[in-house]
Formats: sequence, C-alpha cells, structure tokens
Amino acid sequence: MPPCNPEITGKSEYRFGDLIDAPAFSRMLESFFIATGIPNGVVDADGELLSMAGGENACAVFHRAHPEAAERCRDSNKAIMRDLRERCVAGGPCRNGLMDYATPVVVEGRLLATLFLGQILHGPADKEFFRAQAARFGFDETAYLKAIAAVPIVDKARAESSMAFMVEMAQMLAASGIARLRQTALERELDAHAERRVQLEDILDFSPVAIGWSDGNDHIEYINRQFTRLFGYTLDDLPNIETWYRLACPDEHYRETVVRPWVANAALAHRSGAVQPELEAKITCKNGGVRRVLIRTSWVGSHQLVNLSDITDRWVNEQRKQAHDAMLEMVARGAALADILKAIVLQIQHEDNTALCSILLLDAEGKRLLIGAAPSLPEFYNQAVHGVEIGMGVGSCGTAAFLGQRVIVADVRIHEYWKPYIQLTERAGLQACWSEPILSSRSKVLGTFAIYHTVPKTPEQQDIERISFAANLAAIAIENRNAYEELERQAYSDYLTGLANRRHFFEQAEQELARVLRYGGELSILMLDVDHFKRANDTYGHQVGDIMLQTLSEVCRSTLRKNDIVGRIGGEEFAVLLPETGCADAMDAAERLRAALAEANVPLGNGGQPLHFTASFGVATLTGTDANIDILLNKADQALYRAKGEGRNRVCVYRE
Ligand code: GH3
Ligand code: MG
Ligand code: MG
Repeated sequence: MPPCNPEITGKSEYRFGDLIDAPAFSRMLESFFIATGIPNGVVDADGELLSMAGGENACAVFHRAHPEAAERCRDSNKAIMRDLRERCVAGGPCRNGLMDYATPVVVEGRLLATLFLGQILHGPADKEFFRAQAARFGFDETAYLKAIAAVPIVDKARAESSMAFMVEMAQMLAASGIARLRQTALERELDAHAERRVQLEDILDFSPVAIGWSDGNDHIEYINRQFTRLFGYTLDDLPNIETWYRLACPDEHYRETVVRPWVANAALAHRSGAVQPELEAKITCKNGGVRRVLIRTSWVGSHQLVNLSDITDRWVNEQRKQAHDAMLEMVARGAALADILKAIVLQIQHEDNTALCSILLLDAEGKRLLIGAAPSLPEFYNQAVHGVEIGMGVGSCGTAAFLGQRVIVADVRIHEYWKPYIQLTERAGLQACWSEPILSSRSKVLGTFAIYHTVPKTPEQQDIERISFAANLAAIAIENRNAYEELERQAYSDYLTGLANRRHFFEQAEQELARVLRYGGELSILMLDVDHFKRANDTYGHQVGDIMLQTLSEVCRSTLRKNDIVGRIGGEEFAVLLPETGCADAMDAAERLRAALAEANVPLGNGGQPLHFTASFGVATLTGTDANIDILLNKADQALYRAKGEGRNRVCVYRE
C-alpha cells in the first residue's frame, strides 16, 4: 500500500510545478513508462496537467473520441476524485473496462497534486467484452482490439507499489522544494532585516542626540556616533551599564545620591507603566571634560533605550548669567574684591573641573602682578608669583599683562616664557597655562585671568570663550570696585581733566617736599598758563575752551613721567611737581611739554582748521630756603609771569 495521508487539510499555498523541476520530473515519469509500460500522469491541485506518459492508448484514441464512451470516462474520473478524499489510493475498473488509479501527493497535510496511473489491465483482456464494445460504439474492431492488446497487464499489487514509489518520490521532491523556497525566503528576510538594521544605525548615527541601548542583562549593545563624539567612549569602553555609570559619574557620592535613585525610579516607572523620569546630569567624558546632559529612557521589549541631549551650552549660559548676577550683587553689597574674585575663579573651575584658575592684579604702578584670587593653586606657588614684574617671557601672565594680549602656553615644560619657572611649575604639577589680560573699559590692563591644567592642553573654542568671559567678569568686578573708590577719586581729582585738584596737588607736593627735606635729593616745579585763553573762549566758546584744557591734560600725562605729579591749580593754570629733578632736567621737561602742546590741536568740528594753542612755563628748583610748597610755587609763578612778558609760548626759570 502507498503511504497513506489520513488527513488532507486543504490545498497547499505552494504550486507543485514551482516546487519541483517540472521537465525533469516529466522525463522521470516518461522513463518509468518506458521501463514498465504503465501510462501515468500528474495533475496539480488546480487541475492543470503537469505531465503525461503513454497517454496515446485505447482510451485516448477510442473511448474519449466517442460521446457515450467519453461520458463513461468522465463518470469514472469523478468517482476516483470522490474516493480520493477518503482513501490513499482510489480507482478500479472504469465503465469502459480498463483499470484507472489515482493517489494524492500530499505534503504537510496539504494536497499538492494527484498522480494518475492507467489505463492498465490486471489480467488478459476479455476479448468478447471489447468486441461487443467495438460493435456498440462503432469502433473498427481489429484496430480497437489491437489497441486493447497494447494495454499493459499489471497486477493490482504491483500497480499499487509502483504508485507508492512514484508518490513518495513526488512528495519528497515537493518537500525539498518547499524547504528550498523557505530557506530562500528566510535568507531574503534576513537580508532585509540586516539592511533595515544598517539603515536604522545609519539614521541613529546622524542623530544629534547621543543614543544607546542595552539588553535585559544591562549589557550595552549599541551606542551611536554622537555618543562617542560627545563623550569620547566607544562600545569597547562600555561593556555594561555599571561601567558606564562608573566612568561617566566617577564621584561616588554623586552616583549614589543622584544617579542610583534615578535608575531605581526609572525601573519602578517601567514596571508600573508610568512616565519615565528624566535626569539632568553631569557626564565625565573620556578626556576628563564634563558635559551637562538631559537623560531620557524608554523601553522596547526588554531593551532599554537611552538618549542623552547635550545641554552644556545652555547650562553654561545659565551658570554664567547667575555668576554675573551674583558678582554684581557682591559688588553692590560691598563685598571685598578678594571675595568677589575668588567667586569668579570658583565659578570657572565649576564649569571646567579640570581647570585651576588664578586672577592676578596689576599694581598701582602697572609693573607688578599681585595675587587677586587663586584658591586652588598651591600656596608656595602663589607666594612665588606674588609681586612678579611683568615683561616678555615672564610666564603666561607676566607676558599677557605686558602685551595686553592673550598668551596660550599649551605645555609649560617646553615653552620659552616658562623657562625661568620650570622647577616651580614642576613642583606645583602644572603643565598648561593660558592667560587672558583683564582689560578695563578703556582697554587698560588691570590684571590677568589664568587657566592652568595639570596636563599639556591646547584650548578649544569653548575654553577661549570661557577665559574671555572670566576676564570680563573680573574686569567688571575690579572696575566696579574702583567705582566705590570713585567718590574718593572725585574728592581728589579735577572733574574736567581728571588731574589732581588744587588741594590734592598741594597734599602730594607737601609730602614729596617733606621727603626731600628729610632724605635729601632734588625737586623742581613747573607752572604753566594757557596763552590768550580768554580770546579762545570768546572766539570759539567756553566748550571749546574746556576741550583745550582736556587736551592739555592729556598731553601732560603722555609727555611727563609716571611719578611726576600734575595738578590743575586754577582755571587754566597748571602745576607739575618733578621729583628727583634738578633745574636743567626740569627745563628740559618744560620745554618738551611746551613743544608737545604747540603740536597738539583741537578739532573744531565745522570742517575748519583745527585749533592750535600754546602755553607759557615758569620753572623753579628747590633750594635750602624753601620751607614749603607755596614758596616754591610762588617762584615758579614769577618765572611764568616773565615768560608771558617775554612773548608767551616759552619757558622761563626763576632766578634769585
Ligand atoms: P594770558 O595769555 O595772559 O594768560 O591771557 P589769557 O587770556 O589766558 O588770560 P588769563 O589767563 O587771565 O585768562 C583766564 C581765563 O580762563 C578766564 C576764564 O574765562 C578762563 N577760564 C578759567 N577757567 C576756565 C574753564 O574751566 N573753562 C574755560 N573754558 N575757561 C576758563
Ligand atoms: Mg591765567
Ligand atoms: Mg592765560
């Protein structure tokens, strides 16, 4: 008996012709026919004839050509198909006297095709039956009997075993066809899946947000390119989430008090289906820098998806605004400058916790740097720096203060500016020093803001922005501190020219005189008065006169030495005290000033020629009998009077 498929659950989704090599299968059945003489055929589940061998027999030539005989063929076919639903092999003698069999080709319980075998006879033909049939249907008896004699005689058992063999063969071929199709489909799906994955990772790699995911065992499976770009870590650095937390948040206290509670809340929310909590956290990058991020998580099955938005810029801006406001508040409260500067340093160190900062202030003489605030640098280092004279090659700060320009030294160990201080920096463990001059609103150097690193480091854009911000903040603090001192300054200086006022000039001059009288040394005084000033006032107006006086004071400042004391002692009368100066040098100074004033001009703003003006000078030098500054000044005034008398725009010396 052929293998029986007790249950056929329906038609297969596959077509038999697609599963097998149909021409090869037909050739095989043809060979079977040639070897056995048994005609056979295969019809697929849709009723389409796939192969037929030995079909040109008595049935095809005679029975199917006659309407009544053909009707009998059809009846027996219908009976076979009916039987097939219940039996493994259906068929038997047809009403035209031949044997016909059929068996289903079934794979996975589904009908794929039907194999027909026939027509055959089980024994010698009943010649009388066929002769009678020839007479009934009007066949040529001789030809008909010859065709019947050609029908192969196969006993029932052999027919059934042949069918079993062929069906088994067909089923095996179809099953392997299905397996092959499935394999191909699977491979195609895998390809598509791999492609989808590649596309997904490509998209994620272009995301401006850092993204990573981990499996249910906290094993990190993926991080995108932005993740590595932002934090420096690669997947190799981060085998699991615990490693990530330890690297990103190395401060154990922070990890335990901020990160872990958030992780626990996120897990709780996941279990209860609540909204995942966000975390604003500081992440330590692979290079030691710190970034501020907003962390959000979500779950996809057992995978946890994490995205981290970089909010460092926003955070820094907020911090800086706060620092700025806090600094102004400290100024308004009248906090000590040292405390304000320390707060600025701590703010910058908070922004970049690998940085060590210092603020140095230029002394009143503009020569030496003094420690303003450097709370994180070693005391011995600050002591060594305190009072250092500025100049080219005096470290980063001395040079920056000297040039009034930013100085970047990425590695102090190999930079010429640091050669004299190599042992000092080595002991302090400092290897990079960037220094920004702190400039007043009038671009005067007030000091320096320095950022040190313990490793060689070249500043990035954000570092430059940070040091500029810090120097600006320090400038505001220092200048505002000076605005407290403003009242004091106003008490001493002349409102129009900024020079010492009469009272202050006399105070300073008396001090200097006392010093010379006590310790010895030379001292001279100049008096000057603008020539024909009334005329200028009358011609150009009082405002232009004021500008002339301001111009005169600027020329005095730029022409005289720093330690000469200049004062406005009357409306358009000025006095200059020249310490350590004898008569000849005083005359030189006066002459220099006279010439410079004659060169200066005041633009008139109406497109006309700028206004020139001159002054007359009287010079007096200290002698043993000059007990106070009034006496000396009176002598200078006498000389000045003479200069006026001799034609103005000239220098006269007092003579006894
Ligand atoms: P001389 O060459 O002899 O000095 O002639 P002069 O015109 O300069 O005469 P004098 O020194 O006496 O003139 C003083 C004038 O200076 C009187 C006053 O109007 C003017 N003056 C004084 N203080 C100011 C000031 O603050 N602004 C202006 N524009 N003029 C002033
Ligand atoms: Mg005058
Ligand atoms: Mg005058």
